[in-house]
Amino acid sequence: MNKIYLDNAATTPLSEEVIDAMVDAMKMNFGNPSSTHSFGQEAKILIENVRRQVAEYLKVSPAEIIFTSCGTESNNMIIKSSVTHLGVERIISSPMEHKCVSESILDMKSRKGVEVAYIRPNEKGDIDMNRLEELLKSSDKKTLVSLMHANNEIGNLINLKETAELCKKYNALFHSDTVQTMAHMDLDFSDIPVDFASCSAHKFHGPKGVGFAFLRKSSGLKGIITGGPQERSLRAGTENVCGIVGLGKALELSINHMNEYRNQMETVKQYAIDRLSAEIPGVKFNGRSAELNNSLYTVVSVLLPYKNPLIGLQLDMKGIAISQGSACSSGASKPSMVMMMVLSEYEMDDCTPLRVSFSHLTTKEEIDVLVDALKEISHDFVIEKADAEHR
Ligand code: PLP
Repeated sequence: MNKIYLDNAATTPLSEEVIDAMVDAMKMNFGNPSSTHSFGQEAKILIENVRRQVAEYLKVSPAEIIFTSCGTESNNMIIKSSVTHLGVERIISSPMEHKCVSESILDMKSRKGVEVAYIRPNEKGDIDMNRLEELLKSSDKKTLVSLMHANNEIGNLINLKETAELCKKYNALFHSDTVQTMAHMDLDFSDIPVDFASCSAHKFHGPKGVGFAFLRKSSGLKGIITGGPQERSLRAGTENVCGIVGLGKALELSINHMNEYRNQMETVKQYAIDRLSAEIPGVKFNGRSAELNNSLYTVVSVLLPYKNPLIGLQLDMKGIAISQGSACSSGASKPSMVMMMVLSEYEMDDCTPLRVSFSHLTTKEEIDVLVDALKEISHDFVIEKADAEHR
């Protein structure tokens, strides 16, 4: 059975070029970058080259890029260090953030007594900028705003520049979880006054276990992992040299092909929306994800008009890997906070969300296989529903 992978928002397959670059680094550059001899210095040069490359992409200084183990670590570091080292007393966020952000905020609330204000999104998943401004105006406490650039479940985007400028106007620090948009979009941080951002290499065909944090130099943020002086003493621990090399190669490929890949994925995404709309009566799309110009092009969040908590498993048995986005109100999986925000009570109880997420490797033929599989599954459910209504 030919397997089909439609879960690229969870992780992406490694590019061959990335694997080759990493293998070369593993074979030839095993030195510890902190060592002063040539073995160490050769490894150090590899890291600094990637740091420069990332800085060029974001139009920032290399000193503002700190390599970490993943997006989760970067977000934890930024939120926790803002409180412990920068004196943040209040955090404004939304209930739609990734768990690594929301749990870090809750941790700071319970351990450090930080005040937390959430902006509840509307049923389309939009964050109201007027509400953000009201909250920013309402307190003199030192504030961090943490709002993700693109939502990983429904693909909603915020206007990063507008949000950053609003935070700046009220003297608040601004952190954006950019894990789903780094290397997928042009990001110019010389123009967008964001203070902190995060990246994870495995979201753009790089390796797992490596990412970076962007920390605006003027913020004065400090690290939370202490030890040696690596990463300008902001993140102790011997660097993941081959991982960083892999991140660099993946970023280079993404940047070089950004427009081409984006066009390709937008075409496939629109094809998926059109075919699902035509073939599955009653299908809907969550948040802004069906609005091509107004959402992340790698994701479409589908709502099937019947309840089927086993759909992920059934599709997997047909060779299709996909994330359910679980809004089920019973069974083992709990509804995700994002789905709770954008779905009605009826939709939560009687419908099934599915997240289809693309890479440049995704083809229309794969979408056809998905649609056929969903038609087959949907058919059984529609018959069952009709039978139940007759009983
Ligand atoms: N933030 C968002 C929006 C994500 O989608 C993810 C991964 O799913 C993360 C953070 C965490 O990244 P990592 O897997 O590198 O820890």
